[in-house]
Amino acid sequence: MAEQDLAGRKALVTGSATGLGRSIAIRLAERGADLIINCTRSLTDAEETVAECNRLGAQTQLVAADVSTEDGCRKLADAAASWGRLDILVNNAGITRHARDHADLDALTREDFMDTYAVNVAGPFLMMQACKPLLLKAHEETGRASAVLNTSSIAGVTGIGSSVAYAATKGALNTMTLSLARALAPAIRVNAVCPGFIGTRWFKDEMGAEQYERLEESVAKSTPLGVASGPDDIADSAMFFLTDASRHVTGETLLVDAGTHLGYAPLTAR
Ligand code: NAD
Repeated sequence: MAEQDLAGRKALVTGSATGLGRSIAIRLAERGADLIINCTRSLTDAEETVAECNRLGAQTQLVAADVSTEDGCRKLADAAASWGRLDILVNNAGITRHARDHADLDALTREDFMDTYAVNVAGPFLMMQACKPLLLKAHEETGRASAVLNTSSIAGVTGIGSSVAYAATKGALNTMTLSLARALAPAIRVNAVCPGFIGTRWFKDEMGAEQYERLEESVAKSTPLGVASGPDDIADSAMFFLTDASRHVTGETLLVDAGTHLGYAPLTAR
């Protein structure tokens, strides 16, 4: 059993029915936090996340809400208002439009750009807008800065990723992390985690099981650390920003990509 260092803290994780959001929620529950789990359509998956968090002892609420809308973010903030404060907010919900050939500019439409932007950039902003009073309340009551973590991507740093639109949104999210960290200190800390490849349904749904397995193998061979990350690997790093271990850290973006950004060229075949 993990140390219960987050006992009594109230946490909201967007897009937590599946993938990385689910792993982060479960890690928070293991350490004693109470949770709001959020999904849009994946109700069955979200219920599984809730059941696991409850099994770990968390008091868990499930809120179906679209973070790209003001109403959706207000609904999530209203649920957190039942606690009277919010100690931890993870802006994790994200989408992409796959267009891997970045030279093919016709592969993306204006709608693709705007849809991706609405969830990946406007979403975290609207969540901050809706939750700011509760994040401030947590600081006022506990004397501890509340912790916000944005799930960004290595795509926002390197420009390499599932599409030009996706990479651009994550670059914008990294910049917003800096702006809000500066503006909301000292009461609220705002940081970001930038995963490289994560083996989640994004790839599993896009390709068949066999092709996915081959992808995982080739990713592992291409990273300096020789591994393909799963959601739990990223969640473990993310926890640094959500606990007191990072109490003096704000405006930071942490690359969790098994070293991919180093542009590794293997000298010997693995
Ligand atoms: P995922 O699809 O399993 O998780 C994304 C979650 O966001 C889903 O549960 C989805 O329902 C939810 N979501 C989407 N739109 C939403 C909306 N408008 N409102 C509320 N929820 C919404 O994929 P994942 O890989 O776990 O992605 C989580 C985060 O990690 C995303 O921000 C993504 O950009 C980022 N990321 C993923 C990878 C990867 O390789 N999979 C790499 C880097 C960063």
